[in-house]
Amino acid sequence: MPDTRDTVILGSGCAGLTAAIYSARANLKPLVLEGHEPGGQLSITTLVENFPGWPDGIQGPELIENMKKQAMRFGAELQMAHLVSADLSVHPFRLHLGKETVHTRSLILASGASARWLNLPSEQALIGHGVSSCATCDGFFASGKEIAVIGGGDSAMEEALFLTRFATKVTIINRSEKFRASHIMLERALAHSQIVFLHNTVVEEVLGVEEKDVKGLRIFNTKTGQRSVLPVSFMFLGIGHIPNAKMFQDQIDLDTDGYVKTEDNVFVSFMSERLNGIYACGDVQDRRYRQAITAAGTGCMAALEVEKYLEELGR
Ligand code: NAP
Repeated sequence: MPDTRDTVILGSGCAGLTAAIYSARANLKPLVLEGHEPGGQLSITTLVENFPGWPDGIQGPELIENMKKQAMRFGAELQMAHLVSADLSVHPFRLHLGKETVHTRSLILASGASARWLNLPSEQALIGHGVSSCATCDGFFASGKEIAVIGGGDSAMEEALFLTRFATKVTIINRSEKFRASHIMLERALAHSQIVFLHNTVVEEVLGVEEKDVKGLRIFNTKTGQRSVLPVSFMFLGIGHIPNAKMFQDQIDLDTDGYVKTEDNVFVSFMSERLNGIYACGDVQDRRYRQAITAAGTGCMAALEVEKYLEELGR
């Protein structure tokens, strides 16, 4: 039987790493499983201007790197692994990571949320060939091209603004007339000479599947009923995220969109009964705020609850 860990943290984004800093400082030697998107969303973003303490902003990957170093300085262990399945009905909990099984007295779910796609067959076929959900990863490939960004929230505005460094023209395609983006981000995008907007417009097909290269978008205006082709050579998605909690759907209560349901910020339940020793933090449980700072805040709370729980267990 393998050694039993005091705590394991699933996810290495802002929430997971904050939980790691706190639990490491409590001498719990947390194991952080980095997951399939190490560093979470901050690691694929650019300048973060609203994280307190950085008056001139800080690059997302640098912020994450700092958090990692801080957690490791106090004894957190980071492992490149992701969870295949878990058994939360036994104590200690069992986490199956492929060949290895980890036993742990407590568990912090900080598995975040992944990019949402339109789920058009043509879009899926062209991922990596002119379709992307990560402007910071793939922006360079849009150099000198006319491109489209889908969405009307802060992600879409941020991507569009970033992509003006590479693309000659960026068309933001929003499916309605309303924007979810914050005032400041929307104003910046509206004021940018390389950005244009299409409202009430949905993408029906990404053209270029045979050529394995985006040749344009077949779009539909839901207000006028008109169809047309937008001649772009790249499409970036900025339409939000899906929580990474599906693997727990039979063991933890999730809401209708798949977010982990929490009470008192970080407590989770199954069949409406609170689960001892399992806490959720960050974007996997937050459909409302979804900010780096709120993820860090709930990461801290989860770690403090783990400490209390282990104390009650007599650890
Ligand atoms: P969001 O605010 O939920 O916006 C998603 C956008 O995508 C909405 O315009 C939505 O349209 C659209 N959308 C969703 N599904 C779609 C589909 N299938 N087809 C077409 N359009 C679709 O998500 P987000 O922009 O990722 O932002 C999430 C959170 O992170 C927010 O709190 C935001 O403030 C924050 N954030 C902040 C920054 C920053 O401050 N730098 C950057 C990025 C994100 P509808 O409105 O019609 O549903």
